[in-house]
Amino acid sequence: MRELICDTCRQEFALDEIELKNRVIAQDENGDDVIEQYFTCPLCGEDYSVIILDRQQEELIKKRRQIRARVNRAILNKRADRARKYAEQEQELKNDIRCREEMLKEKYGGR
Ligand SMILES: [Zn+2]
Repeated sequence: MRELICDTCRQEFALDEIELKNRVIAQDENGDDVIEQYFTCPLCGEDYSVIILDRQQEELIKKRRQIRARVNRAILNKRADRARKYAEQEQELKNDIRCREEMLKEKYGGR
């Protein structure tokens, strides 16, 4: 089980004791909500940002989930070539998501 330590009160708690919450922190160029997922330390009430999502990021994550399902289906059907092709696509998307994650953190995070 992964544990987290609150930087403020030094309390440790397990991940499943924490409730992730969403809040709208901004609007992007198209007027769509930018959402921050965060949790609050149950002891001292300090907020911690987990991830920042905008609409495009949500699309990328959805797409990755679909490709992941294709990889699994190809493996089930013993289509190794196809599975490899989809796995490569998934890897690319994963990189895109990670880059965008950093970009969003730079742009909207650091409050
Ligand atoms: Zn705390």
